[in-house]
Amino acid sequence: MFELSEEQRAIKKAVREFGEKELKPVGREYDQSNEFPHEIYKKACDLGYIGVAIPQEYGGAGAGQVVNAIVGEELCRADSTVGYSIQLGDLAVHMVLMYGTEDQKKKYVSMIPKGGISALGITEPDAGSDVAGIKTKAVKDGDEWVINGQKMFCSNASIADWIQVIAVTDPNAGHRGLSAFIVETDRDGVESFPIEKMGRHAQPTCDVVLDEVRVPEENLIGKVGRGFYQVLDQLAASRLNTAGIHVGIAQGALDRALEYAKEREAFGRKISEFQYIQHKLTDMKISVETARFFTYRAAWKFDQGYLPTEGAAMAKLVAGEVARSVTTDAIDVLGGHGYAMEMDVERYHRDAMAGPLVEGTSAILKNTIANVILGKLPAEKKVGK
Ligand SMILES: Cc1cc2nc3c(=O)[nH]c(=O)nc-3n(C[C@H](O)[C@H](O)[C@H](O)COP(=O)(O)OP(=O)(O)OC[C@H]3O[C@@H](n4cnc5c(N)ncnc54)[C@H](O)[C@@H]3O)c2cc1C
Repeated sequence: MFELSEEQRAIKKAVREFGEKELKPVGREYDQSNEFPHEIYKKACDLGYIGVAIPQEYGGAGAGQVVNAIVGEELCRADSTVGYSIQLGDLAVHMVLMYGTEDQKKKYVSMIPKGGISALGITEPDAGSDVAGIKTKAVKDGDEWVINGQKMFCSNASIADWIQVIAVTDPNAGHRGLSAFIVETDRDGVESFPIEKMGRHAQPTCDVVLDEVRVPEENLIGKVGRGFYQVLDQLAASRLNTAGIHVGIAQGALDRALEYAKEREAFGRKISEFQYIQHKLTDMKISVETARFFTYRAAWKFDQGYLPTEGAAMAKLVAGEVARSVTTDAIDVLGGHGYAMEMDVERYHRDAMAGPLVEGTSAILKNTIANVILGKLPAEKKVGK
């Protein structure tokens, strides 16, 4: 796959126009207000830009992961802060789509393209990269599960309709003792507290307290004891979206640096005439293209019916690191102006800094890729198998 189809190019253009009109002018405002852009999210939902990869029978566009990555890219290219926040409403749908019941898909997945929001509760104070270290417990009581624990860095939690919570159901089974649950945020005992953070200000990232939260048996996703493996499969899908987002952040920073370099003068010349600036812009472009290639290729693999464990890890690793480095370079191209809040690039940089941390740090992704190289993990498998 080396070229987008005519239809994919048309979608890319339409989302770019939407982003330029609706996101770009207000990004800084949302960065400073720390508010989620509900109205823009609703408009994006109405246009079918949210949950693009969700199958049509569950209200999505059914357009696949390549188109989803393109949409995330264009939204975040237009504005990293607002783009990031609205592109993650479907954060927790993948596991439900892969392992959930038909009722769960109809109830919890189909609400997302209509404006619903999901959240992912894996990380805890003492368990980040080491998912098997989760301490939140779910204990069976009749036909209900009672959940107690604390989640951390839970994106969207305070604005979400439901959180996918990973909890220990068998304390003696290690990573084989984890299970996944849908926890509606309006249930008794669920409380979310947004934390202050460096970037991504338009999306709440929360501590979540789960205190004697009761959910019915039908809120279990997949099988008891399979939560760890279901998380791994889910990450291989959600990393494609995250990669697309970071391609867009990097491209948006490059666009701004290029525009500035063509206007700014020093020593009687446009700074774009200095070889140093030309090489910097060239390196940035090569990095963005590399990240885009890895992302589209892995997303394309998914659309062929495969879960690209290695490809998605590579795409997220490359795109996350590229977003960090390209946004740093953009600040350099703008000189002192790049450091000023009135220019977008410092904000793009703050938003990009989370890229190599979320959904597996770059170190953890390297571990995954190494496991594939060493034959301990398959590079890909059929979706849902
Ligand atoms: C903005 C933001 C949003 C987030 N959103 C969510 C969310 O929605 N849901 C959710 O569940 N979590 C979320 N997270 C949490 C994120 O997934 C974790 O921060 C991440 O998994 C790392 O865990 P940790 O912070 O506990 O770091 P640790 O696991 O403590 O790691 C610390 C350092 O040690 C390294 N390290 C750890 N283990 C190894 C190893 N085996 N080999 C090599 N190096 C290692 C790491 O790479 C890192 O550099 C979010 C985080 C951020 C910053």
